[in-house]
This record gives sequence, C-alpha cells and structure tokens, in this order.
Amino acid sequence: MAFGKSPEEHSQRFEPASSILQRIFDSNNSLGSELLNESDRYAAVKSAKFPKPAYTRVIACANQKGGVGKTTTTVNLAAAFAEAGMRVLVLDMDPQGNASTALGIEHPSGSPSIYDVIEQRRTIAQVVCPCPQFPTLDIVPSSIDLSGAELEIAGLDNRVDLLKNALAEYLKNSGKKYEYVFIDCAPSLGLLVLNALCAVEEALIPIQAEYYALEGLGQLLKTIQLVQMSFNPSLRISTMLVTMYDRRTSLSREVYEEIKQHYPDLVLKTVIPRAVRISEAPSYAQTILSYDPRSVGATAYREAALEIAQRGARRNTIARS
Ligand code: ADP
Ligand code: MG
Repeated sequence: MAFGKSPEEHSQRFEPASSILQRIFDSNNSLGSELLNESDRYAAVKSAKFPKPAYTRVIACANQKGGVGKTTTTVNLAAAFAEAGMRVLVLDMDPQGNASTALGIEHPSGSPSIYDVIEQRRTIAQVVCPCPQFPTLDIVPSSIDLSGAELEIAGLDNRVDLLKNALAEYLKNSGKKYEYVFIDCAPSLGLLVLNALCAVEEALIPIQAEYYALEGLGQLLKTIQLVQMSFNPSLRISTMLVTMYDRRTSLSREVYEEIKQHYPDLVLKTVIPRAVRISEAPSYAQTILSYDPRSVGATAYREAALEIAQRGARRNTIARS
C-alpha cells in the first residue's frame, strides 16, 4: 500500500494507467485492486478504454435474497458503462422501484411503467425514460403496481416470455443500439424473475460478503439451471460480484476466497466495498458515480464494469477465432 509514503516517494513510484490496470486484473492476487491506493485506481479506471461488445449484452442481476446489492449493482454498473460512453438500458423489474429512484425517475402508482409492458398494454418504447444523470442511459421504470402482475399473468400461455418478447421488439424496432441492457430483479424466484431470466443471456449474481453468503445460492443456481433446460438454453451465469466487502474483517476475505474456490471463472477480482456513500446516493436520486464520483465505491463499480467489459471482449475474441 502507498499510504504513509512521502510525496517524493509517491512521485517516484509513478506508473502508467495501463500497467496499473494490468496489475489489477492480471495479478495472481485475487484481490489485486486492493494493492493500490485510491487515487491511482481512480485515475487508472477513468482513463481506461472500455471495449465495446460486438452485440447487445443483456444481463439480469439476480439473487432471491433481499439486501445483497442487486439494485445498487444494477444502477452503478449501468452508470459506469454509460459514463464510459456505452448506450445502456435498465429495466426495473422490482415492484419496489429502487433502481428507478436511484436513476432519478419518480414512479408513483399508476405512472407508465414496466407493469404496463408485462401486461402487454404498452410497449417499452412508450414507457422508457432518459436518465437525467447520464445522456446515454435509459430506464424503464417500475411501480408498486407491478406487485400484482405475477397473479395477473399466471394464466397466460406466454407468461414467462412477456419481457423477452417486449425487449426483443424494442431492440429490433427502436433503432437504439444499446451495448448493455441490465435487468434489476426482485428478491424472489417468482414469475417476474423468471421473465427476467428468460429475457437474458447472462445472469449476474451479487453476493454479500457476510456469514451466510452462500446460503440460498444452491437454490438460485438450481433455478437458473431449470430455466436453462426448460425455457432459455442461452442463459448462463456470467458473473458473480462480491458486495459490501469490509477489508477490516477476515470474514469478508474468507467469503471471497470461498466463492473464488467454488466459482473461479465467475467471480470478479473487483469487490465492492461496504461504504456509507454508496448507501446514501439513492436518497438523493443518484448513483454513486454522480453523487461522489471519486469515492472508493464509484471507483470499485467502474472497475467491476471494466472487468465485465474485458471478460466479454475476451470471450468474443475466442468465439471469433
Ligand atoms: P437488493 O437490491 O439486493 O435488495 P440493495 O442494492 O437495495 O439490495 O442494497 C441493500 C441495502 O444495502 C441498501 O440500503 C443499499 O443502499 C445498501 N448497500 C448496497 N451496497 C452497499 C455497499 N457497497 N456499501 C454500503 N451499503 C450498501
Ligand atoms: Mg433491489
């Protein structure tokens, strides 16, 4: 760590952004980013070039546990990609509408929302809103009305494909060439989450660094496998992200190492620290990137986004060769 070094020592250890990033992502240390100080990390990730995916990556942020950081991860990754110049769409599929709030969209009961899309009354084009914080970020807001949708669609033949069909129609006809679509899921394994898992190719699972971190993960993986077999063969878990990581506790490190041991190819090297600023941002209708752009939380979400972009790019290269 560079903390406690004199300014002279600091300037002597100047290192170009590209090699800093290489150390973060290519070091054998699973927590490479921890080795660096905050301002180095901020400068490195801000100057990094995010590779564009060759196709629209559609990613559901899912975990049936509540409070693990799904919404926080959805909005801040979306913001990080938008800040890097990508065109991003967020679909809020949680009746609580927390992603809509964090992205600056009010969502009172009765306002046009994803509820109308799921009920096939409106198209996505009719309810999508621009995010006031980032010009290339759009959001389809939720509203509390969505909590009634599961019962209302339960009898339909196409009940698991409603979101998929609406999204496919929108992506085809809107002329908007999004690089990323993120779906924020409710904390359940019900019909709304099933709709999200049927509409995506990638699932991103945020895992809170806590004692019971892996509890319930088996159930989630089983559900995803079931969706793969029965409805959506293209679905795969592409990413696990450890959230609310507290570097002062050995528990956080142990949780990370355990996930790393079980899912070495899925878990990002970047971890999201537990940081008060991250939890404050939504009450100002902000993401952490706009609320406190230089904070550790903002930097960590940018690093996570970059890692996701680079992994995707690598996979594309392999697929093409
Ligand atoms: P979920 O969508 O899975 O229910 P949230 O993203 O809403 O979880 O997060 C749950 C709570 O934890 C929220 O109050 C949020 O502000 C807070 N939170 C999320 N990530 C962090 C973090 N890295 N540091 C501190 N608080 C966080
Ligand atoms: Mg949520």
